[in-house]
Amino acid sequence: MGPDTHPRADRVEQAVRAAVEAGLVGYEHPVAGFVDADGVRSTIRDLRAAFEGTEVLHAFAAKASPLVPVLRLLAEEGLGCEVASAGELAQALAAGFRPERIVLDSPAKTQAELREALELGVAVNADNLDELKRLDALVTPDTRAVLGARVNPQVGAGSIDAMSTASPHSKFGIPLGDAGSRDELLAAFATRPWLSRLHVHVGSQGCPLELIADGIHAVYRLAEEINANAGRRQVTSIDIGGGLPVNFADDTVSPSFAEYVAVLRQRVPGLFEGRYSLLTEFGRSLLAKNGFIIARVEYVKDVGGRRIAVTHAGAQIATRTVFMPGAWPLRVEAFDAEGRRKRDRPLSQDVAGPCCFAGDLVASERELPELAEGDLVVLRDTGAYYFSSPFSYNSLPRPAVHGFRATEGDLVFAPVRTGQTVAEIVAESGAEHRDALLA
Ligand SMILES: *Cc1c(COP(=O)(O)O)cnc(C)c1O
Repeated sequence: MGPDTHPRADRVEQAVRAAVEAGLVGYEHPVAGFVDADGVRSTIRDLRAAFEGTEVLHAFAAKASPLVPVLRLLAEEGLGCEVASAGELAQALAAGFRPERIVLDSPAKTQAELREALELGVAVNADNLDELKRLDALVTPDTRAVLGARVNPQVGAGSIDAMSTASPHSKFGIPLGDAGSRDELLAAFATRPWLSRLHVHVGSQGCPLELIADGIHAVYRLAEEINANAGRRQVTSIDIGGGLPVNFADDTVSPSFAEYVAVLRQRVPGLFEGRYSLLTEFGRSLLAKNGFIIARVEYVKDVGGRRIAVTHAGAQIATRTVFMPGAWPLRVEAFDAEGRRKRDRPLSQDVAGPCCFAGDLVASERELPELAEGDLVVLRDTGAYYFSSPFSYNSLPRPAVHGFRATEGDLVFAPVRTGQTVAEIVAESGAEHRDALLA
């Protein structure tokens, strides 16, 4: 299929058109984010189907899209939520997740965060042995929260170092392969009967399925060993993390959740024999393809033989793409001011953002239909992380995010996040302390 004949591409085209008609993007609003609620529901159906027949709680990794209405949709769909800070925990609770469907990760949990989690009944995966000692002081016979330990299986890194959490030197979890470490872990479980879960998250984006499965296999074997030592089923659940890579090159979902589960079933069949309940923590793979950014082209210029379209989407919203273009390339698509896909013959163009540094490009020398002032560019597959990783450089505002869904063939939009105003930017930049540095 060509790039613009996939059903998802049609859906985006319909949404861009409708967004322009609704005035959500254009002269007044030069950049905005969009979330396809039907698409999210459909991705969740794929996830559920892949794990059919297994007792599993799919906890969405909040950092991929910590927007309360998005979290609310996921809670409604029966998902759980993985959080890693007091802010994410509060967002999850505001969205209506029940505490027992929330799991708190994070390598830097404070005493206060641990206490709050236990009081609420939120599950906790301890990152290290010292955190387990902190839990010793907090656990009481009334503690309902499921408590576990995060293990670093040290199976190696994927193609993006910064996203690989199971490398030999990763900051996450209790290393499994270091001298003496496995015995310490076994002892930690032997002396803490309330520990009942193991957690592993091999990495995010760039990790092959086999690497992820190897990490899960190592943790499964550890669970079996702990249970054999204990002479009872002490470990009752395994949190297998998230990290399914997303294909940013075209509309194909690859790998799919079904392919992931097939690899897992082959490498770790014991996981599916009913002795353990499972937790997953997918983020990017649930949301990325169900969102996009629309930005207006402000100017077009020719410089040193290069054509540059200056748009309103740059490092302030596509931060990783701008700073690590090799690791985080995005598809950029050209639309006219009315929101119709441009189909002219492609021309090599740089697509730049509004930030005042030369490297603020979301694409360089990209073959695209020729862009003109007032046209729109669409950055595809940006539904995960792009709305949660803003860069406040140049005091550019966080753009609005809108959700949409189909009703009787028409797309209906709803506000998900209000765009930041200039007044808010001023207030957030210390306006209340205006005279603080005067004599
Ligand atoms: C970020 C993270 C995830 C989600 O990763 P994705 O690549 O978005 O699926 C899951 N678990 C933990 C512990 C994480 O840090």
